[in-house]
Amino acid sequence: MVYSGSTMQFKDIKNQRVLINKLTEIIDSGRVSHAQLFLGETRSGSLALAVAYMQYLSCSNRQHYRPVAPEQWCDDYGNAIDLRADSCGSCPSCRKFMELVHSDLHLVFPNITTTPKGSENPSAEDFQAEFRDFMTKYGQYGTLEQWYYELDVENKQGMIREKDAANVVRYVTMRPYEAEYKMIVIWCPETMNSRAANELLKSIEEPYGKTLIILVTENTERILPTIMSRVQLVRVPSLSLADMFPADFAPLFVDWMRMLFKLNMARLAAWTDSVSKMGRERQKQFLAYSLEALRCCFLLNVTPGAIQPDGDFGDAKFNQSFYTVVTGNNISLMNDAINHTLRAIERNATPGLAFMALSFKMSSYILKK
Ligand SMILES: [Zn+2]
Repeated sequence: MVYSGSTMQFKDIKNQRVLINKLTEIIDSGRVSHAQLFLGETRSGSLALAVAYMQYLSCSNRQHYRPVAPEQWCDDYGNAIDLRADSCGSCPSCRKFMELVHSDLHLVFPNITTTPKGSENPSAEDFQAEFRDFMTKYGQYGTLEQWYYELDVENKQGMIREKDAANVVRYVTMRPYEAEYKMIVIWCPETMNSRAANELLKSIEEPYGKTLIILVTENTERILPTIMSRVQLVRVPSLSLADMFPADFAPLFVDWMRMLFKLNMARLAAWTDSVSKMGRERQKQFLAYSLEALRCCFLLNVTPGAIQPDGDFGDAKFNQSFYTVVTGNNISLMNDAINHTLRAIERNATPGLAFMALSFKMSSYILKK
């Protein structure tokens, strides 16, 4: 499921069942290590997994499905068959997790110096409502760029500040209110400066009572080695576009992009008409797919020879040529236009008109490569 509200149960995370089964087994056996690092793309579920992990840990009614032995976790092709367990989704703890309002869960993420409320010296604490909206809206597919878009700072870099690190140090010294653990998710720790990272190191080095800190990152290069050496590493496998989205999105995307080179009103009207009939959830999902597809074309374009399984749209001619029109000159314009449409659809805009307007913009951007 995509965009299914703020649910963070394991069952809602796409195609990571082998890893999830390992994680629930570790939690069930009581071997939870207090500082972990989930390494993998956000879109592959790394952030959603960290929250679902904490929800499972705190659930008072963990659901265990039929016993699955480790050797049965995946079939001959490496696809997991079933989840061995999941949180219940309905106990008081799960309900708070699913709205991201559990008092023992702290979310720390890159933020900016200007808040909507205008508070001085802000921290992630000042952006909790916005971040909850972001996670609810994008689910597994939210990226750092989309978070910045939601904050209206596309061209600015957010960061995790010393105040955020000091808050983490404070969280770990507080007693849990209702759960067994005090739980902290730090998303994109690579955006910390070294002073913040050194501050954070204290809470990782000297665990205080039952705390669980999960760092979630796509890239460990900018994380202090002293932090790396103190966390347990959990690798989150990358998902391809084909793993993540319905199979009919690639041909729909190919049709759309081809049409944009030479706008023909009758063809465009027919295309927007078919998209209008998909329903809002699928429309948003298709826009999320388009963002990812364009990002992958851009990467192919700027890194010639890169092995990029996502560059296969099931159409040899399109695969070979389309990516060359996605350049540094138009990628962020296209992203903004698509994000703008996502937001409009979210706010109940008329889909036909929204996709029509988007197509005109996209067409001009593609032609100005
Ligand atoms: Zn529960």
